[in-house]
Amino acid sequence: MAPTPLTHQSLYRSIRHRYLLGVLIIALLSTTGYFTLQSALSDSDSTAYIVNLSGRQRMLSQHIALDAHRIYAAKLNTKEPSDDLITQMKRNISNMKEANFKLSSGMLSDNWTVDLSEATQEMYFGDMRLYERIEAYLTVAQQLLNSSNDKEISQYIDIINNTSEQLLTDLNTAVNQYQLEGEERLNIIEKLELFVWMTTLIALLLEVLFIFRPMVSIVHTSLKTQTDALNNLEKIVESRTLKLEISNKKLKDIATQDPLTKLKNRLTLESDIEALITLCKKHHTHFALCMIDIDHFKAVNDTYGHQAGDHILQELAKLLKAETREYDRIYRAGGEEFVLVLNRIPFKEAARKLERIRLAIQKSHFKYTDNVIPLTISAGIYHTQMFDISKVHDLLRVADSALYAAKHAGRNCVCIAKHENDNKSSVTNENCIVDN
Ligand code: GH3
Ligand code: MG
Ligand code: MG
Repeated sequence: MAPTPLTHQSLYRSIRHRYLLGVLIIALLSTTGYFTLQSALSDSDSTAYIVNLSGRQRMLSQHIALDAHRIYAAKLNTKEPSDDLITQMKRNISNMKEANFKLSSGMLSDNWTVDLSEATQEMYFGDMRLYERIEAYLTVAQQLLNSSNDKEISQYIDIINNTSEQLLTDLNTAVNQYQLEGEERLNIIEKLELFVWMTTLIALLLEVLFIFRPMVSIVHTSLKTQTDALNNLEKIVESRTLKLEISNKKLKDIATQDPLTKLKNRLTLESDIEALITLCKKHHTHFALCMIDIDHFKAVNDTYGHQAGDHILQELAKLLKAETREYDRIYRAGGEEFVLVLNRIPFKEAARKLERIRLAIQKSHFKYTDNVIPLTISAGIYHTQMFDISKVHDLLRVADSALYAAKHAGRNCVCIAKHENDNKSSVTNENCIVDN
């Protein structure tokens, strides 16, 4: 079944809906991708920060132990520790305290908080009590810094010595734990990215299959339907034009053809001769124009009846056709008068041919019912070799004068046209090729 052609508006609507849906899906996917990437970046930022901070904390615990020993050594030698050393230890204590707070609470800054895993919380606040032990370690370090009592200092340095190694091991465990969690998080992010990438690809594929391909198909079908309709229309127009041309030709034929003899009538005679004059001048060819009139045709009608006259006119037309060539032209100029145009023929041959026609008519037995009707014609001939005529009317006039001369000479003969200047004096028997 042929597809139902879409109207221009419904086609537009269908395409618009489809591309809007396509664009919407792409926008949705790119937004999801954007936020996933953002979250991945922020997660990898916090992971890097926490791992870095825990490593720093581990390093600070060692620095503090080292600072404590230096202060202890100085005080043993009854020297005051340098200001730089005191400032450095204070700073290390403060930094480690801050790191302990951040790593145990997840509050990395005022507006940057991360969720701590259960394992981390367990390390800080479970059996390992990392938070509390760091705080205690820092308190002892601070007390060592503040004290000037040798005995106290000695006690503090013992505590530091006893705890620092285990603390370092546990802080190392914490660093490893953060690294592990960071890697896990990165793994999840990588998987998420892969998922977004795959979803985007699948969505695009589905869009191609269910949105864009059908859209292309709709446009294609619609264009094809339009082209087919246009082609059909063209064919209809072509066929109608052809019919019109045929009708026009028929009308023209009807208008230019004599219905009785089927010869051309007078309508195109003048324009045909005009064209012929031009053509002959251009190609230096010649033609003859013969004006033929049946002798005493009125008497034929009167004697044998009008229908017999009609019959004779038809028979005469046939005879003229038979006696001429394909490229000659025969016209029924009116009543019982005919014009013969003999193309591309020298004068003498044309005159001979016309004479032969005259004789053939004279010898013919025109039969109608039981009657054999005798018939003769008179004719005038003009040929382009005789003298130049460029106007159709002049040409027809000289040929007509020659015909008149033939009638005047007694009929049943052919007269040659004379130049108009000689015409008046030359309507005599001498002009005729054959006398009656
Ligand atoms: P002429 O030798 O001087 O030409 O004499 P004519 O009788 O032929 O000349 P005229 O002009 O007096 O008569 C022509 C006649 O031709 C008159 C008319 O009845 C006849 N005629 C003209 N057209 C037709 C036609 O279509 N059919 C018939 N049957 N006769 C026609
Ligand atoms: Mg006549
Ligand atoms: Mg006549």
